Amino acid sequence: MTKLLQTTIAGSLPKPAWLAEPKTLWAPWRLEGDALAEGIEDAVRLAVRDQVEAGIDIVTDGEQTRRHFVTTFLEALDGVDFEHRKTVRIRNRYDADVPVVVGPVARRHPVFVDAARFLRGTTERRVKVTLPGPMTMVDTLYDAHYRSREKLAWAFAEILNEEARAIEATGRRRHPVRRAGVQRLLRRGARLGSGDARASRAGPRCTTAVHICYGYGIKANIDWKQTLGRVEAVRADVSLLSRSSIRQVSLECANSHVPIELIGLLEGKDVLVGAIDVATDRVETPEDVAATLRSALRHVPAERLFPCTNCGMVPLARDVARGKLRALAAGAALVRAEA
Ligand code: ZN
Repeated sequence: MTKLLQTTIAGSLPKPAWLAEPKTLWAPWRLEGDALAEGIEDAVRLAVRDQVEAGIDIVTDGEQTRRHFVTTFLEALDGVDFEHRKTVRIRNRYDADVPVVVGPVARRHPVFVDAARFLRGTTERRVKVTLPGPMTMVDTLYDAHYRSREKLAWAFAEILNEEARAIEATGRRRHPVRRAGVQRLLRRGARLGSGDARASRAGPRCTTAVHICYGYGIKANIDWKQTLGRVEAVRADVSLLSRSSIRQVSLECANSHVPIELIGLLEGKDVLVGAIDVATDRVETPEDVAATLRSALRHVPAERLFPCTNCGMVPLARDVARGKLRALAAGAALVRAEA
């Protein structure tokens, strides 16, 4: 029988201090050239080991290969100018200097395919590879070419599909397809446009997941979250997701202002229940995690529930993140024993 309540994380983990400045988003690398390449591989090995030792079932590379979740992907594409930036308001919450789309966007070469292959080589566990969603990319750029959020999102969706299929293929070569559980994680903010759901239909055949969250625990995002709290506000997005071919939906449920009964609307989908709050240094107890999972189990059956983190843990201290990984696995074990 398949193990119930398999644990996983949203994606990122903190980087070692010798690789990048700790507790900083977008931290510059502290190594260069060959030393950087070697350092990244070592950091991936450690990130995988931390997850395996904690008891996490489906592991990621902790996004140790990327300086920034979105930008590192965009840097690999044609059509995006990183030299001449423009200041834009990000999701009406804060200002940022962003790259500019100056021509048709295109994928020059594989972006995370080698990293996915390396990750598989480090572990026998199922692996998950994360990619930024089309709308997340649209929201972090100034578009001087398409002049249409929808057209630009579709161009990104096609690029992501190419990349996801190439990542999936790294599993076919090493393992039988059924064992190779690449999951495509399309990240974006709380609002979901029709482009995302349409893109999901053209996705690879491995398990695909969409992560919906409210950003890292920076003040602008935390303040904005206080305005959430009504199922009605996100019901349309959830129903769009339910009709898509995306297999898993990842939501923040620990200390979330979004009511837990929302996950009951995700009929037929696996639900990655965020039971770890990444916006606080306080390490949850296994019992805290178990309480979140038990409340989720009132709305989704155990066969479709995957205990997860609310979001990435890159801004946290490493010992805090390790503690949270252990709490997640231990909390899931408590609930599994009751099932
Ligand atoms: Zn997130």
